[in-house]
Amino acid sequence: MTQEQPMVPFLHPHQLNYIRNQLTNLVGVFYFAGDYRVLEASREGVVAALLALVPQATPEQRRLLEDGKNVRDKEELKLYISRLEPYVIPFPEITAAEIRKLFPKVKKLVLPDLANLDRTKLTYLGWRDIATQSVYLVYRSGEKWVGKECKYVPSPKNRMLQCSWCLSSGSGDEVALVTSRVKTKQIDGYKTFGNHLCLNSTTCNHHITSTAEIEAYLATLR
Ligand SMILES: [Zn+2]
Repeated sequence: MTQEQPMVPFLHPHQLNYIRNQLTNLVGVFYFAGDYRVLEASREGVVAALLALVPQATPEQRRLLEDGKNVRDKEELKLYISRLEPYVIPFPEITAAEIRKLFPKVKKLVLPDLANLDRTKLTYLGWRDIATQSVYLVYRSGEKWVGKECKYVPSPKNRMLQCSWCLSSGSGDEVALVTSRVKTKQIDGYKTFGNHLCLNSTTCNHHITSTAEIEAYLATLR
C-alpha cells in the first residue's frame, strides 16, 4: 500500500484572500437567497473559481478546495480558512542586507520590522518613512527581488481614493498618490509614474486578491 504524501503548501497569500472573498459572497447568498437553485449555482461557481486558482491541484488539494462550497456562515468560513492556512506559501525570507542592496542610493534607509513580519500574509513588502514621505515596495519577481522607492502625498481627508492593488478605498493617510521617478533614455530625462496605493501595507496585503496590478506597475518602472 502506498502512503499518501503529506500535502505541501500550494496557495499564495493573495489566493487565500481571494478564497475568503468568494466564500464571504457565498455566505451572503446562503443568508439571502430564498431559492435552493440559486444557492446551488453559487456553490458550483465557487468550486469552479477555487479550482481555477490551482490548475495543477492534486486530488487531495482538489478535495480541500471543493470543501469550500459547504461553508454556510461566518464561523464555518473561519474554520475553513484555518484549514487552508497551513498550505499557504509564505512570502520569501529577506534579510536587511538584501533590502539595503535594493536601495543603494537611499541614505539612512528606514527598514521594516523584519522580525515581526507574518510572511504568510504578505504578497509584497511595503513600509514607509514618514520623515521623507517615502514608501518602499519590495516584491519577489521569479527568482529576483525588485525594490522601488516612491514618494507619497497624503490625500485630503474628504476625498476617497481606491488602492489600485487591493481595491480598498480610503482617504487621508489610508490611500494616497504614490509616485516613482524612472530614468528615460534622454539625457537627464525622468518620467514620474503615479498610482493610488494604501499607505498601510498590512491592510493592503490583507485585501489583495491578484498580483496582476503589482506586476504591471513594477513593469512600468523597470
Ligand atoms: Zn491597497
